Amino acid sequence: MIFLFFNKLIRIKIFKLVLMKSFLIFITSLFFLVAYGQVKTEESAYLKKENYIPYPGTSNDIEKTVHVAIHIWQRADGSGNMRDIPAHYARFIKIIDWMNGLYAKNPDAPIPGVPYKVDSIYDSKIRFKLEKIYFYKDATPDSSYFYSTDYLHNKKLNDYLKEHFPERVKTLNLHIFRGSYAKASGYSEYGSIGTFYRVNPEMSEDDVHDWWLSKHWAHEIGHGLDLWHTYDANGSYQQNCKSTYRDFLWDVYDTTAVPSGKGCNVDLITDKSNNNLMGGQEGNSMSVLQMGIAHRATVIENLYNKGYNMRDFVTGYGYWSKAIENNEVWNVSMKMYQDIVVKKGATLTIKTEIQMVPKAKIIVEKGAKLIIDGGVITNEKYYNKEWKGIIVRKAKKSSSVESGELIQMNGGKVSHAKVKYK
Ligand SMILES: [Zn+2]
Repeated sequence: MIFLFFNKLIRIKIFKLVLMKSFLIFITSLFFLVAYGQVKTEESAYLKKENYIPYPGTSNDIEKTVHVAIHIWQRADGSGNMRDIPAHYARFIKIIDWMNGLYAKNPDAPIPGVPYKVDSIYDSKIRFKLEKIYFYKDATPDSSYFYSTDYLHNKKLNDYLKEHFPERVKTLNLHIFRGSYAKASGYSEYGSIGTFYRVNPEMSEDDVHDWWLSKHWAHEIGHGLDLWHTYDANGSYQQNCKSTYRDFLWDVYDTTAVPSGKGCNVDLITDKSNNNLMGGQEGNSMSVLQMGIAHRATVIENLYNKGYNMRDFVTGYGYWSKAIENNEVWNVSMKMYQDIVVKKGATLTIKTEIQMVPKAKIIVEKGAKLIIDGGVITNEKYYNKEWKGIIVRKAKKSSSVESGELIQMNGGKVSHAKVKYK
């Protein structure tokens, strides 16, 4: 009897599981239907992380450089933080070099792995260039710039620069000051990074320490690129908790595993059991979907780390052009790192601000249309230079194909570049 009862209980359980499974499948198919429907509209296509993965040999295969500067906050007498000596410059150059290595050499075996096949890319195509190292002597009576235990002290420092040295906020700023916050080594919010040391102002002058610092910055810049931790639940970042979120990382989290709670429908990865750049161990593994999110943050405004403006610190140019073969409407502001070619028969409508890097141009082929409807095509903010402009192809009189067309309406304009008809 007991056995039978037990058996029945199991069967009920299995039945319930099957029911739940069919329900899940139903919900999942619903999601894919909705998701597929969304892909059709241009806006969501440009929000999709999958559309930014830098697969080698594709038009996404563009190396992008994040321009950084280091700001060291000392006491009024110049003490209490790193000194302005050549040895420290050499250290920082080495640290930035290591950061480049962390983003360029991706181990192809993320830990833990998922049981199904996923892609991996060796090089994330994101690089860093150290533009300058600055030192500041804090003359406030309480050394309130040099020392802080407040969250977002980095913002206070960056705001100070914005006011006194506006040219210095063109780079992604890495501030070093004394203090602490929770158990962190620093944080990355509002367009800059705060890093603090607690004891030794020279920050232990050895390679072990400096190697750690390179990993710390690589990780914090990851946050600037809209990546969230792989080990703690944060619904608002949409990457590590619910498989239905747009930015869920299905190549990092095993979607077939039974969830362990925390309101997530996947298992979180503990900070001790992974080699991910965004894990607690600050490894250097990046999944292709993480690379997609990172590259998206160089093109459109930050979706999660709001107001960060990461793309303003980034430059690059890829020789693969972006071909527009079907009618598209762009209503999400984007920064373009390549030429745009509007192909014969297609119409590209711009309803927002599109930023072009200095080397980039737009070609409107014969039989193609570019409509700037209330939008603006302009230069990007880091170099703040002219871009290569728009070329509208003219057809010969005898030709059966019509000339390309550029239509400006509702105040739509071209800025910091010329339009040529040829
Ligand atoms: Zn972090």
